[in-house]
Amino acid sequence: MELQNIEHIGIAVKDLQVSIKFYEEVLGLKCYKIEEIEDQQVKTAFFKVGNTKIELLESITPDGSIAKHIEKRGEGLHHIAYAVDDLRAALREAESKGIQLIDREPRKGAEGLNIAFLHPKSTQGVLTELCEKPKE
Ligand code: ZN
Repeated sequence: MELQNIEHIGIAVKDLQVSIKFYEEVLGLKCYKIEEIEDQQVKTAFFKVGNTKIELLESITPDGSIAKHIEKRGEGLHHIAYAVDDLRAALREAESKGIQLIDREPRKGAEGLNIAFLHPKSTQGVLTELCEKPKE
């Protein structure tokens, strides 16, 4: 498959406000959007760094996947998201190469993107997201 760029890096945090302060006041980035994604039980904050983004993820429920991740591994890197031109084709290709998919079909993610995750069991422990801009 052909990856276009690292679309974003997802980081699990306990407290969005505390983390936003670090990214703004220490790293000098600007949070341009806070978005709640009901479907994934997360609240996200976005920052641009060149043509990549940082996506901070805070759980909005005590038993959401981000809450569980933090419980098990603490705060920190959660996933890497690559931009692809054709998400469905990329998923079929990964599947044909024996990669375990979390999402067999694209679903709606933050920022209006179509997204799908590859299972970390198949990706040496790195939760890998593929995302595509919706076609007009
Ligand atoms: Zn993501």
